[in-house]
Amino acid sequence: MIQVENYVNGKFVQMSENFDDISPSDFSVIAKIPRTKNVQDAVDAAKAAFPNWSQLSIEERCDWLDILADALENQIHEIARLESLDTGKPIDVALNVDATRSVNNFRFFANFGRSLESQEFKMEDATNYVKRKPVGVVGLISPWNLPLYLLSWKIAPALLMGNTIVAKPSEITPLTAHFLAKVCSEIGLPAGVLNIVNGYGPEVGQAIVEHPEIKAISFTGGTATGKIVAATAAPLFKKLSLELGGKNASIITDDADLSIAVPGVVRASFLNSGQICLCGSRVLVHSSIYDEFISKYLQELETFEIGPVISEEHRSKVISYIELAKQEGGVILAGGNIPEKNGAWVEPTVIAGLSHLSRTATEEIFGPVVTIHKFDSDKEAIEIANSTKYGLAGSVWSKNKGMEIAEKIESGMVWVNTWLHRDLRVPFGGVKDSGVGREGGMWSIGFFSQAVNICVMED
Ligand code: NDP
Repeated sequence: MIQVENYVNGKFVQMSENFDDISPSDFSVIAKIPRTKNVQDAVDAAKAAFPNWSQLSIEERCDWLDILADALENQIHEIARLESLDTGKPIDVALNVDATRSVNNFRFFANFGRSLESQEFKMEDATNYVKRKPVGVVGLISPWNLPLYLLSWKIAPALLMGNTIVAKPSEITPLTAHFLAKVCSEIGLPAGVLNIVNGYGPEVGQAIVEHPEIKAISFTGGTATGKIVAATAAPLFKKLSLELGGKNASIITDDADLSIAVPGVVRASFLNSGQICLCGSRVLVHSSIYDEFISKYLQELETFEIGPVISEEHRSKVISYIELAKQEGGVILAGGNIPEKNGAWVEPTVIAGLSHLSRTATEEIFGPVVTIHKFDSDKEAIEIANSTKYGLAGSVWSKNKGMEIAEKIESGMVWVNTWLHRDLRVPFGGVKDSGVGREGGMWSIGFFSQAVNICVMED
C-alpha cells in the first residue's frame, strides 16, 4: 500500500485525514491519499522560494529542467508502472505515451528556453526592450487521463520562466505526481520551488484557485469545472489558461486511403479507452465508402487493446450514454456491454444510426464510445463536425482534400492523415467551449511570464 504525501517546502507531509486510491483494473485499494483543504503552507513555501528561483538565469533553470528530465528518464519504467497501476491503462501506453512524454516535456522546455531570443524594437530615436518576468506563484491543476504527462506539461514551462508552483494532481491519480516529488527531493531541487498538494477538487483545487497570492491558474479538466474555475479566478484578475473538453470529429472522405485511415481512426477513437481530450469520438464517413470502411474499422477494432475506464463512477456515466444512445435510436455495431470481470471495464462501443444532433453525438462521454455518421458531401461533413459546442481537435483522412477541409473546421487543432502527432512548439488548445488560451512552445512561455517593455530614449 502506497501512502501518498503532500510535498511542501521540500518536505513530505501527511494529513490526518486520508481517502482511498482505487485501482480501476480490479477495484482494489492501491494507495492512501491525503485530504488537504488548506494550501497556505504550500503558498508560503512557494513565496519564500520565489526570490532565489526567479533570480537564477534562464540557463540555470534550463539546467534544472535537464537534471529533472535525466532523473525521470532513468526511472521511466517505474513511471509507466505507477501510471498503469493508477489509471488501468496498458503498460505500453503508459510507457510510450505517458512516461515518454513526461520526460520529453522537461527536455523540450530546457532546450526551448536556451533558444529564446531577447526582443528589441528600434524606433528612430529610442529602443524598446521587451522583458519576460515571472508571474509569481502559479497554481497548476490537472486531470486523471494523462496524469504526469499533463502536469509536467505545465510544471516545465512554469519553472523555466522563474515561477514557483502549487500543483494539484487529480484525486483519482496522484501516484506519479508523488513520484515526481520524490525525484525533485532526490536531485535537490530547491525547497518550495515545486509544491504538490493532494485532495478533492472542490476543496484543495478550489483553495488554489481562490488563493489571492496565487497569480496564475493553468487548469486542464472538464468544461463544467472550467466554468467554476473561471468564475472564481476572474474577479481576482489572475492569468488563466483553460484546457477543457472536446467532442472531436474524424472525417473520412471519399478519396481516403483506407489502409492509413482505418488503423488511424481506430486509434483516435479508442486510445486510452477514449479518455483523451483529443480522441475522435464522432466518426464521419462518406456514403460512397461507408460499408467498406465500417467493415474494416470493426475488424481492426477487434485487435485493439484497451484498459478499463478510470473508475466505477465514470463507467456508470459511460454506460448511461450507451443506454441513452439506444433510446435515441442508435444501433450498436460493436460492444455495448460490461465485461464479466472485476474493475471498471467497458467494451469498446460503436454506435450508428444517430442524428449528429442527438445528445449522444454532441455531449462529451470521455470513454470508449464512438458514434458513426454518414455524409454525402464535404460541405455536409464540415457542418456536422462544427455542430457541437466544443472545438478542441479533429482529424481528416483524405488523399487530396485534407488541408481544404481542415481549414474549415472550428477547432484548435486538426490532423490530416494522422492523429496525436505533435511538435511541442505549436499551439495547443481549443476554441468555443473547449477552452481559453494556448499551451506549447511560445504560448506556454507567454502564459507563464509577464511581458513588460522598457523604452530607452537615445541621446
Ligand atoms: P475535472 O474537471 O473533473 O477535474 C480536473 C481537475 O480539476 C482535477 O484535478 C480535479 O480534482 C480538479 N477540480 C475539480 N473541481 C475543482 C474546483 N472547484 N476547483 C479547482 N479544481 C477542481 O476533469 P476530469 O479529471 O474528470 O478530466 C476529464 C476532463 O478533462 C474531460 O472533460 C477532458 O476532455 C478534459 N481534458 C482536457 C484536456 C485538454 O487539453 N483540453 C486534456 C485532458 C483532459 P479532482 O480530480 O480531485 O476532483
